[in-house]
This record gives sequence, structure tokens and C-alpha cells, in this order.
Amino acid sequence: MSLLDGMGRPLRDLRISVTDRCNFRCTYCMPKEVFGPDYAFLPRERVLTYEEVIRLARIFASLGVEKIRLTGGEPLVRRDLDRLIAGLAEIPCLGDITLTTNGSLLRAQAQKLKDAGLRRITVSLDTLDDAIFQSMNDVGVSVRTVLDGVAAATEAGLRPVKLNAVVQRGVNDHTIVDLARHFKGTGHIVRYIEFMDVGNTNGWNLESVVTAREIVTRINAELPIEPVKPNYRGEVARRWRYLDGTGEIGVIASITQPFCGDCSRMRISAEGEVFTCLFGSKGYDLRSLLRGGASDEEIGRAIERIWRPRTDRYSEIRTESTKGLPKVEMSRIGG
Ligand code: SAM
Ligand code: SF4
Ligand code: SF4
Repeated sequence: MSLLDGMGRPLRDLRISVTDRCNFRCTYCMPKEVFGPDYAFLPRERVLTYEEVIRLARIFASLGVEKIRLTGGEPLVRRDLDRLIAGLAEIPCLGDITLTTNGSLLRAQAQKLKDAGLRRITVSLDTLDDAIFQSMNDVGVSVRTVLDGVAAATEAGLRPVKLNAVVQRGVNDHTIVDLARHFKGTGHIVRYIEFMDVGNTNGWNLESVVTAREIVTRINAELPIEPVKPNYRGEVARRWRYLDGTGEIGVIASITQPFCGDCSRMRISAEGEVFTCLFGSKGYDLRSLLRGGASDEEIGRAIERIWRPRTDRYSEIRTESTKGLPKVEMSRIGG
């Protein structure tokens, strides 16, 4: 079945944040000045249990969701994540279960996650320059650790790995070609992301955005590429392949080439609030239904009531003036 929103978009993808905590303090996501030692993360009892997440995922699957991405915060800081994946893997009709991680804890977990039923993985890696990387994650984790996590994922059979790189002018934009060159020919796919005005704390402004066009031009100048058709309707990354046949890259241009028209994503925060847009400010509480004795049918109807009137298209109407609107933090709903 297809549950359509107010603009005819089906509900197909679910992004589940399994924790609001993270072992990184990326300056564009969880800056230390805001997420410092006194920051009040969610107490455990407010976070959905794995059983609750699995129950919700089943209900979403019955409404047409085909793909689930686990995210955070950093999903691998939550204990026994493989237990959640194993539960999700048992849900019929779910074609795809994937995970976005900063990669720092992947060496220890990759095989367990794969064995539990994880199909694919995305690892965030903004640059190969160690000094820049350490200042971006702001906790001193080295590029080597993340590359070792990527190697562990590959050895476990989670390939190709997708690598997410957020590009910020004056921070890491001069290193984008090196990143492409490193993964060219490995089968892995680097996806460059335009720096977005998510949340309220990352000091975003338009000048710090390096546009998809500029990213492509810079890479093409050294490693010639050509555009490729999307794999499926609604794919967020625009695909480019190397002319010499050694692989492809993607560019996610939320700022300059918004893709709201095909947006089929719903997001759940770690405490069970659903958001119909990455840039939303209002979440809808499903946890109190889950814990208040509601049946699956009642929860399903509540989700329908949230999705049907949806008309979100923030990226299409973004201007310099919308950046000040209150928005949920990325670390709560996971990108
Ligand atoms: N901690 C995991 C990680 O970093 O991969 C998962 C959660 S993180 C919020 C998900 C993705 O959002 C990462 O690839 C991250 O680089 C990206 N992201 C965070 N803040 C962003 C921003 N302001 N603009 C663009 N992408 C951002
Ligand atoms: Fe943590 Fe990911 Fe945000 Fe970086 S982008 S602070 S790794 S949640
Ligand atoms: Fe979807 Fe909102 Fe992003 Fe548009 S801005 S693609 S509606 S999440």
C-alpha cells in the first residue's frame, strides 16, 4: 500500500535515531559550546527500547515503508545495536536496513552488525587531512581510526561503503579531490554533502556552503566525471561516474538543488517523536501511544494522520531569512 501525503508523496523511508548521544563533537552538528559536559542528554527511560523501535518499524512497514536507516547521534554508542538490527531484519517487506555512523567504533562491531542482518553502511568522513579531521570532529579521533572502520566493514561484507563528506568553505573544501582520489577504484562511493542549516547551533550561513556545481567542477578538473541516471526515483545523491570506469561519486545538494518533490522520508527521534521534515520544529509523540496501551492499528492511524496532511518542502523555500526559524537539532533526528 502507499500512504500519500498532501503533495502525493508516498511514505517509503524511515530514519530512526537510536540515541541522541555521540562520541564526536563535529563543529557543524554538535558544537562543544552547546553540547558541553553539562548538556542534558535524554535519560535512559525516555529513550525507546529496542522492542519499542521494532514494534514501530513493523507498523511503519505495514504502511508502506521499505527502507530503514539507523542513525543518531552516533548509533554505535548504543549498547548491543546488533540486537536491534536482528529484530528489524525479521520484519517482512523491509527491503533495506542500513546505518549511518562516524566509523570510530566500527572495527569492533562491523562483523556483528553484518551477521545480525545489516545490509549496507554509510560512514561519515569529511576529509583525509588528519589535522582538519581532528578539528572538525573536535575530540581528536584520527582519520586512521575511521579508515580502519571502513576496512572492517569491507571485510565483513558491507560493501560498497558509502562515505559522507560535509563540505564547508574554508574548512575542508580544498581536500575534496584527495578524498575522491583515495576511494576511486575501491568500489566505495564518496558522497559530498552541501553544508546545511540544520538545527540552530552550527553557525550556518550561505557563504560557507560550497555548491554541488563547484564540487563537481573541482573534481572534474582533476578526475574527469560524467553524470549518471539515478538508481531510483527520489535518490537524494546525484550520481557522477569517472570517465575511466573506476567508480562513481555522489553529490547531495540540499541547498542548491532541493529534492523535496520526491521526499518520502519520516524521521523518529530517540525518544519516539516523529518529524516529517529534517528542518521541522514540531515532532509528534508516538512514545506515549506505545507506552499508553495503544494497539498497532491505533498507532498506524496516528501515523497516517501525521503523514497525510504533510506539505513540507523546506529546502525549496529556504532563504537567508529562514535560517533563524527554530528547528530540531540534527543530532536528535540524524540527518
Ligand atoms: N553520527 C553519525 C554520523 O556522523 O554519520 C550519524 C548521525 S549524523 C547527524 C548523519 C549525517 O549528517 C552525517 O553524515 C553528518 O556528516 C551529516 N550532517 C550533520 N550535520 C550536518 C550539516 N549541518 N549539514 C550537512 N550534513 C550534516
Ligand atoms: Fe556525532 Fe554524527 Fe553529529 Fe558528528 S555528525 S557530532 S558524528 S552525530
Ligand atoms: Fe524532505 Fe524536508 Fe529535506 Fe525537503 S527539506 S527533502 S521535505 S526533509
